[in-house]
Amino acid sequence: MTQAFSSLRINADRMLDSFNQLALIGGTADSGVDRPSFSEAHLAARAWLRRHIEANGFEFRTDGAGNHSAILSCDDSSAPTLILGSHLDSVPNGGRFDGALGVMAALEVLKTVRENGIKLKVQLEAMDFTDEEGTLVGLLGSAALAGHLSKENLEKPRGGRERLLEGMARAGLSDVSMLSAARKRETLAGYLELHIEQGKRLERSGTDIGIVTAIVGIWSYKLSFIGKADHAGSTTMEDRRDASLGASAFALAAREMVMRDFPNSVVNVGKMDFVPGAFNIVPAQVDAALEFRSPDDEEFKRLDKALLELARSEAARFGLELQTEFLGKHLPSLMDADVRGAFVDSCDVLGLSHMPLPSGAGHDGQSLADLCPVGMIFVPSVDGASHSPREFTKWEDCVNGANVLLQAALRLGNG
Ligand SMILES: [Zn+2]
Repeated sequence: MTQAFSSLRINADRMLDSFNQLALIGGTADSGVDRPSFSEAHLAARAWLRRHIEANGFEFRTDGAGNHSAILSCDDSSAPTLILGSHLDSVPNGGRFDGALGVMAALEVLKTVRENGIKLKVQLEAMDFTDEEGTLVGLLGSAALAGHLSKENLEKPRGGRERLLEGMARAGLSDVSMLSAARKRETLAGYLELHIEQGKRLERSGTDIGIVTAIVGIWSYKLSFIGKADHAGSTTMEDRRDASLGASAFALAAREMVMRDFPNSVVNVGKMDFVPGAFNIVPAQVDAALEFRSPDDEEFKRLDKALLELARSEAARFGLELQTEFLGKHLPSLMDADVRGAFVDSCDVLGLSHMPLPSGAGHDGQSLADLCPVGMIFVPSVDGASHSPREFTKWEDCVNGANVLLQAALRLGNG
């Protein structure tokens, strides 16, 4: 790494200008954005990005999954590609920073490298991944690029098949094109992403940059606590087999257990459906939606076992039966050690404080982690707010993140 590289910085005003232009597309009255995948606003943002890429003189590329990118080629056309990116789609009524910052920073890195006449040993690609947020499928573009997308993912998408078909048609895509987007391992040098933290750890500790250690895995179950429907007035308290008691006791005990024994994990009971569900009937059945996340494989397995045992014992305590239905899992994805090292060196050169952090949210990097070296950095979210119009990151922090992304790309692209 030469001295000249270390002194390079992105153009903060230019990045802000692009960021603000993008934030107007699908912008809401309360300063958020509403750009669910393949909505009118999302399609408009994609079209804006394409025009922006071409107007800035970069080669524009798209693939069968609708991922959009700007390319900065190097002299060796057979050199692998270092992808920098994030996503332009948002959750309904989301914030301006989630995803958009990472795409604008990636593009700004390409502009900075090009205008300084720097020759890297990799192709640089700034990418907007399709449907990261999961309006349709979730991590759709990155899974397609990584070759992990299956026909089943497309036939049973979480947003419903009809919505996916409509969306793909609006963007000129299809099942067949989606499955054609896979890239070969040897063509990829790595993937780097800048994202807002979406939590309070950086703000609370006064740290500039979070260097992601792993993206958590997610397991989910439907737990059915089964008792007996009875008259809510004439059945004595002793005689009831009230399904709500087992489900509620489990939710409380799960919280305590995770806080006590699983410090890196989180658990959520996000939904409870009561059957029959009336004022005057003792609940016969409660179906609870259980999800838990951990960055560590071992802890994950222990937690899985412990939560199911807890559900069984709480059900038994109230004379209930328990049925469990496994709904799916994503394993934790470890971030690459060399990429993390490049982020640490970059923060040091820029005089920024940094700390290792697991990511509790899913990100496109997890699709790519078994294919190429992947790394992510976080910048502080004010008050931890995200997936909301209250989402905010100070511009100075956004600029810090983009400079770390630039420095890390220079280090990894020059090796
Ligand atoms: Zn995001």
